[in-house]
Amino acid sequence: MVDAFTFRDPGPLKPKVARELPIPKDMHEAFAEACEFMSEMEQEPDIELDYGDAIQADGLVGGPVAPDSDEFLFTFYPDGDECRGRWHLRLTRDDMEDIAEGVVTTWPVFVCESDDCRYKWARADERCMRCDAPPEVAQRRKQLEERSVGVKSLTAWIGILLELYPNVDHVDAIGLYNGTEKLDDRFGSFTYRQMKEFLTIVRRGDEILEEPEEKTELDPSDAIAHELIDRLLHEGKLELASERTRGALASLTADLIERNVNADDLALIIEEADGVAELFVTDEEMRAMLAEVSMKVGER
Ligand SMILES: [Zn+2]
Repeated sequence: MVDAFTFRDPGPLKPKVARELPIPKDMHEAFAEACEFMSEMEQEPDIELDYGDAIQADGLVGGPVAPDSDEFLFTFYPDGDECRGRWHLRLTRDDMEDIAEGVVTTWPVFVCESDDCRYKWARADERCMRCDAPPEVAQRRKQLEERSVGVKSLTAWIGILLELYPNVDHVDAIGLYNGTEKLDDRFGSFTYRQMKEFLTIVRRGDEILEEPEEKTELDPSDAIAHELIDRLLHEGKLELASERTRGALASLTADLIERNVNADDLALIIEEADGVAELFVTDEEMRAMLAEVSMKVGER
């Protein structure tokens, strides 16, 4: 029985065609955002960028192929064709800067021969879940797509996923979620970490608590980061250069919390972060505040 996701299933690959495609505007912007985030992280020698989905920008998710590597894997979801038009990219830090700055305006990719497939691949031997799937796998995917139409909740969708793919892991689950049209419009976009938690919750037989406005804040470290920044701002202990930098500061903070950076270091890093005008907080205050918000989030 073929139980795993298509990417791991054996079977012949159909030939793919090399193309040089124009880089869309939103991809330039996404890499600019990603490069900015990486520069911030690089100023902190003690923090190592995790691989996998460590780097996230609008429409872009990725990270180094391995810790300390100069090679990165990204998935880019173009505006308006997020589901079926995505790009798989393998590039270096210099490539990322070149795309961010608009120095390069086209990028080499491989595409499937099928007309209705719009995926862009980094390598000719990548397996397309639509075009290269063995019949049984394609059949199962079709079932998932049909049953995803009109699904009432994220819990219900993951229930269907687990029926069809009992041993699915969070990486494949994200692939199937992102590869099924309209799901992210309805339930939001998620990280690997969040999906891992969702799978655990549904396998346990519980409901995923869905709060539509807070879809992207289900991760505990994200929730703590947002709560901490809200409180610092509310108490006048933090001033931002612009309200627009709040999201980036929250994701930096969430990342630091995820890596168990202590309160003293957290304060130092926030103080130096891009977009932070002032941080007026003593070490004791920061420790107390972090402990309080962590406890508050933990109780939810
Ligand atoms: Zn394809």
